[in-house]
Amino acid sequence: MEKLLEVKNLTKTFTLGSVLSRVKITAVDNISFYIKPAEIFALAGESGCGKTTTARIIMGFEHATSGAIIHSGKKEAKNEKVWFTEGIQAIFQDPFGTFNPLRQVERYFFETIENYKLAKSKRAAVERIDAKLRLVGLSYEDLAGKYPSEFSGGQLQRISIARALLTDPQLIIADEPVSMVDASLRMSIVNLFKKLRDELGVSVLYITHDLATAYYVCDRIAIMFRGKIAEMGTVEQVLMAPKHPYTQLLRASIPEADTAHRWQGEIRLTDAEEEEYLRQGCRFAGRCPRVMDICRTTPPPDFEVEGAQVACHLYADAG
Ligand code: SF4
Repeated sequence: MEKLLEVKNLTKTFTLGSVLSRVKITAVDNISFYIKPAEIFALAGESGCGKTTTARIIMGFEHATSGAIIHSGKKEAKNEKVWFTEGIQAIFQDPFGTFNPLRQVERYFFETIENYKLAKSKRAAVERIDAKLRLVGLSYEDLAGKYPSEFSGGQLQRISIARALLTDPQLIIADEPVSMVDASLRMSIVNLFKKLRDELGVSVLYITHDLATAYYVCDRIAIMFRGKIAEMGTVEQVLMAPKHPYTQLLRASIPEADTAHRWQGEIRLTDAEEEEYLRQGCRFAGRCPRVMDICRTTPPPDFEVEGAQVACHLYADAG
């Protein structure tokens, strides 16, 4: 099976608190997953689960404490470093925060073209910009000379996607890309990711708290809880027949958007979240309706259950 990107045993430890009460949190704890070419893969979970930290490490915004991110895709002519710069692009949660209100939107496109040397003349640059904007249902004429305030949030998110496409990336990392977009426009943005996958073969790492859009748009999903992957498999396996008690709970109550743990923000945890991170054994033991004695002392390993990967002692006899 061909893999585009592989995350292997990734771990990230932060030290939080003041000098007097320092505490070490393993925000991402030995997680592994891969993304295939032309696949939409979701990292999902509630606030503070480690999904955004994982994405930040893949993007190079953050260093891993240990583990590896491996580009295993094609495009052999390009070395690893070039691939990571051009081959991965990001789309952020707040489309208005992405663009400076005092700067014409087209400047961002020309800047990217200049940085990556993507066109030899202004005319070629405009043609490239126009081609990418048409992929998201807009054109160069729609944005020439305009400022961010002249667009809706949905339009700006489309523009962000078009800008990300300038370098012909193989992977787009989308961090809660529709959580700040009008509900009526969400599906049109989400459908764009499907279009990019189906027509251009672009893969998407979809970071979200929203299981409904994840189910609609994604091929596979990993549910994270306090830095660990609780359950991973196809969206059908994980969301239609959840095995892990946490996934079952998540399905029953969709959490709010991850506003406390934004892409650029520092890690801040509530006391309850911090306690769960520091828990011996299964980190979900304090809330799990099916908790057993072993859960309080021993972290559960991964078990394969009907094709999905589930980290829960309930399935110790599954194999
Ligand atoms: Fe619940 Fe135990 Fe499974 Fe953790 S390992 S989810 S506490 S049953």
